[in-house]
Parts: sequence; C-alpha cells; structure tokens
Amino acid sequence: MQKSAFSIALSGIVLTAFIINVSAPPRTLLERVKKSGEIHVLTRNAATTYYEGSQGPSGLEYDLVKKFAEYLDVDLNIKIRDNLNDIISQIEKGTVDFAAAGLTVTEERQNRIRFTTPYQQITQQAVYNTNNNNIEKRPRKLADLMGKRINVLANSSHVEQLSQLKLKYPKLSWTESKNTDSSELLDMVANKLTDFTIADSNEVTLYRRYHPELRVAMNISKEQPLAWAFAKGSDDSLYKEAQNFMAHMKKTGELAHLIKRHYHHASKYQYSGTNTYLSKVRSRLPRYQKMFETAARENKLDWRLVAAVAYQESHWNPHAVSPTGVRGIMMLTNNTARQLGVVDRTDPKESIFGGAQYLRKMVDKVATRYGLEEPERTWFALAAYNVGFGHLTDARMLTKLRGDNPNKWTDVKETLPLLRQRKWYSKTRYGYARGNEPVKYVESIRSYYDILNWYLDNGKPKIAERSILAFKSSAL
Ligand code: GLU
Repeated sequence: MQKSAFSIALSGIVLTAFIINVSAPPRTLLERVKKSGEIHVLTRNAATTYYEGSQGPSGLEYDLVKKFAEYLDVDLNIKIRDNLNDIISQIEKGTVDFAAAGLTVTEERQNRIRFTTPYQQITQQAVYNTNNNNIEKRPRKLADLMGKRINVLANSSHVEQLSQLKLKYPKLSWTESKNTDSSELLDMVANKLTDFTIADSNEVTLYRRYHPELRVAMNISKEQPLAWAFAKGSDDSLYKEAQNFMAHMKKTGELAHLIKRHYHHASKYQYSGTNTYLSKVRSRLPRYQKMFETAARENKLDWRLVAAVAYQESHWNPHAVSPTGVRGIMMLTNNTARQLGVVDRTDPKESIFGGAQYLRKMVDKVATRYGLEEPERTWFALAAYNVGFGHLTDARMLTKLRGDNPNKWTDVKETLPLLRQRKWYSKTRYGYARGNEPVKYVESIRSYYDILNWYLDNGKPKIAERSILAFKSSAL
C-alpha cells in the first residue's frame, strides 16, 4: 500500500516535471531557434555572398548557411542589407541570429561583435584600369597611390586598413562612398571615374572576367579572414553550434569543396577572351537570342546557358566547321545531327534546337545514371556533351579509386586529365581521352554564362526574387 502511494507520488512528480519541461519557454538562443524551426540570417547581395544563379539562389555564403540550417534541421530565413554598418549594428542589437555577409574579421569590429572561426582567407587589393591615362606606369607600391583618386566603401575593412596605412603614409587620402557596393566601385574604375578602388581578392577574381582591363596594382593587406558574425553576450549556444558546424565543414572537406566550386573556374579564366566575347554579345547574339530562348524553353533549359554553350562551340558562327567535321553554331557531329533529325547543320535554327535537345538528353541521362543534383548535374552534362558518357563514367570510376568523390565536379575535373596517361587510362573501359578538354570546356561555359548574366542584368548580380527564402531542410 505504502509502496504504491509512493510510486503514484513519484509518477506525479515525473509528470509535472515533464509538463513543465514541455511548456517551458526556450532558455537559450539555440533552443529558441530550434523551437521556432527557423533561423534568421543577414547577408549582402553580391557575387561573393548571395545572388540568384542559374539553378536558384547561389553564392558561397548562401551555400554555407543553407547547410548550417540543414545541420540544425530548421528553415532558413534570409534578409538582405547592403550597408556594412547596418549589418554590424543589426547584429549588435540582436535583430537577426547572425550575419553571413563576407565580413572581414577586423580589430575594430571585434570590439562590437564576435566572429566564428574563419571560412576563407582573402587579401585587400588595390585595383586600377590599364587604359587609364592618369596612371603612367604600372603601380606597384603604396607610394604610387599618393595623389590619385581612390574611392572605397564606407564602413568597410578597406577603410580600416587605409586608416592604418595612413599612419605611415600621411599623404594617403581617399573618398568613402556610402550608398554603393564594391562592384559599383569596380565599375567606377572600369569607367575611369576614379583611379583606384580597394576590393577583396575573391571579388576581384570574379569581377575581372567582366572587365579584363582591370588589374591588381598590389595587395594592401596581409591575408585576412572572412567569418560569420554573432552578437556578443552571455548566450553563446548558437555561436557554439556554428563553431561545431564550421569544424565539421572543414574536417569533411565540404568547405574546401564549396570554395573551389565558387572560385576555381573563375581563377582559371583567360581574361583576354572577354573583349571578343562581349563584342559578340553585342553584335551576334541579338540575331540568335529568340532561337536560344525558344529552344531552351521547349527543352526546359536556361537560354543563357544554351547561348554560352553555343559561344564556346562556335563563337555564334553558324558556318563554323572543325577539322574533324563537326559543324554549325552548336557544332554537332554528323551522327548526332542525324539522330536529332537535323537536316542542315549550318542552319542556325536547326542547330540550336538540335543542340538544346541534345543537352537536355545529357542532363536527363546524368540524372538517371548518376543520380546527381544541381548544379553538379549541369556540369556533368556539359562534360558529357563534350567528351561523351563513356569517358566521363571512366573518370568517375578513377575519381573513386583515388579516394575522391565521383559525385563532385570539383573532384572529377581533377581526374579527367589523367585519361591522357597510360597509367590511368589502362585501368578504364573506354581508354585514352583528351580529358583536359572537357574540363576547359565546362569551366569556360561557366564563365561565359556568368559574364552574360552580368551583362544582361546591367552589371549587378541578380537579386533573389524573394528577399526571404525559406525551405525545409533535410539532414546533412
Ligand atoms: N569584406 C569586406 C568588409 O568586411 C566587404 C567587402 C565588400 O563589401 O565587397 O568590409
């Protein structure tokens, strides 16, 4: 009797404790985020952070925070602010959970907010225009900046750095622009409205593809870290989780992969080709744009991507012909043309429709055979378009053999060139291939595609249609 009274009392306590626990308000920031099922992140709209890409929202910061939301199993809610000071003060006030905005870790900022371990290293670079008559000889040292027009972004790490340098070079002076962003400042240099600007090296890598006349005069800082920014304060629950996440991303190689995915093709781009490309965008593309649009729509592709493929193939010349007998604006082989029902390969309309149809086939084949998601699906489909499925499958097999990931374009593109070496191709089913070519092919198309977007969207990374994005995440 006594015993059962005791157990009733005990279960009463357990039950009360349980009820209290369930209805208790979340005590920490992490608990609050998990309970609300949503994380609020602040970023900037820029090519280095967050923009609308061919397969939806893109950018290194976006990819990283998306993975973090998956890691926490919550939805992602993105907010955009372009003014750096706004970003820092919103973090201080705690109106968002954190900022992932390509922020440089600086001493001044560390007094106001706290940063995670860095995800990337950059340097600050002074950029000028080689066609600018105000600059007589190639500037190499800080002294060459004296007396020149320098425009920089207000509240940026660049201003902090220049202020440091001014202690040693008192004559150094600059103008700070408030309501702008660094890509506009690079535009000003390209249009010779100023002599120099300061930009982060990752941005310069992406941007020089659009304006090859821009050059880096010198680095004005040592390597500096970029990191996520959190509010200071006693609650470090979410901050700690972000630190765990960063450690996880580093350990698994996922972070290195993301950085490569966003920057590697751009760093390999042959800048000298841009002027020819842009002049053909103006002179030739308008003749074929409608055809690209219709062919792409019918095959559920992005027309700008089909146009980029055609440029890589033929420079949009319908009479192009190669020594091996491929022909036309999409450079179809005789066999492929026959399969696709293309009668006259030099007819631009037939060629474009055939090429788009063929690309669609490749994308579907990659999806069913390899089961890949975008954006990998498109890169693999383009590689297959160029080198054929057999060799691409061989390269995936070798990638696995070397301990890398056959589902990642950044890994397979390292292996493809090995198909030229006997040591490697002897292990494969389809043997020798000029495997460096599909790599160049895919990477050039990616840059042509980016440049076309930049041009058609008036020099601005396309802003994501919805400023608030939410999607339900799956497990990491
Ligand atoms: N990393 C720079 C900073 O934190 C911003 C670069 C930019 O806005 O392009 O100040």
